[in-house]
Amino acid sequence: MTVLIPRCHGFCGGVRAALRKADEAIEEARSRSLPCYLYGSIVHNRLVTKSLEEKGVRTILTPDGAEPGVLIIRTHGIPDAMRALFEERGFLIIDATCPVVLRNMSMLREAEGRALIIGVRGHSEIEALSGARPDAPVIGSAAELDGIAAGEYKTVVQTTFSVPLLASIEHEAASRGIVLDVLNSICDASEKRREALSSILDGVEAAVVVGDGESANSRELCALARKAGKKACLTLDGQGIPDEILMCGSVALTSGASTPDEAFDAVRDALMAGKRF
Ligand code: SF4
Repeated sequence: MTVLIPRCHGFCGGVRAALRKADEAIEEARSRSLPCYLYGSIVHNRLVTKSLEEKGVRTILTPDGAEPGVLIIRTHGIPDAMRALFEERGFLIIDATCPVVLRNMSMLREAEGRALIIGVRGHSEIEALSGARPDAPVIGSAAELDGIAAGEYKTVVQTTFSVPLLASIEHEAASRGIVLDVLNSICDASEKRREALSSILDGVEAAVVVGDGESANSRELCALARKAGKKACLTLDGQGIPDEILMCGSVALTSGASTPDEAFDAVRDALMAGKRF
C-alpha cells in the first residue's frame, strides 16, 4: 500500500508546549514529594491521558477530597472561580493553557460593555471562557441568537470553531441588529491540517486519520476526506480500520492536533507493511 502523508499533521505548538509543562509539573511534584494532578483532559486524546496517568498523574475536576499538590491546567483552560478554589486549598498551579485560549480569556475579562462567546456549549474551552466572563451568553449556531438583545457585543470565538458556522452566525446577527465586534480567534492549526490533507486527496483512494473521537479537529479531517468522496476512518491507534480501506492501493494518512507522534508512526509503519490490526 502507498501511504501519502500531508506536510502538516499531528501535535500543534500549543499541545507540544502543554506536554512540556506537564513533564515539568511531574518533576516539580516529585522533587517536593507532592501528588500531581491534571485538571480534566490535558488534550482530547486518551493515549496522552493514559501516558500521564502512568507517570502518576491523577485527573481531577475539583479540589474536594484531594490532598493539595501540583495541579496541571489543561490546554483548554480552567474557569477563574475554580482556579481560585484550587489556589485557596493550597494547590501549586502549573498552567498549560494554550496561550491563544489565555489571550481570549483576558480579552473577555477586559472587554467593556456587553460580551458574547461563540462556541460549542459544554466544550471545556467554553467552560473556561464562560468562567472568565460569566455574564456573556454562549452561541453555537444562528438559531441560538433568539433571545439576544440587539446592540453591540465584544465577541470571542472558540479556537476550534467552524469558519462557515461563524460566518452564518455573523450574517444572521447582522440581520437582527446584533453587532458582533468579533475577535476571530479560530486557531489556524486545524485549518493548516485540513488544507494539507486536501492537497493530497486527489492522489489516493482513502484516508486514515489517527486521533481520538473526542477530538473535534480529528473528526473534521475525517469528514473532509469523506466530503471529497474518499473512504475515510478515524482510529486512535490503528484498531478498527475497515477492510475496505486496508485493501486500498493508496491512502492519505494524517493526524489531529492532539495525536502523539508515536501513535501516528505506529499506524504508518503497520499500513506500509500491510499489517492488519
Ligand atoms: S489547536 Fe490552536 S488553540 Fe488549540 S492548543 Fe493547538 S495552538 Fe492552541
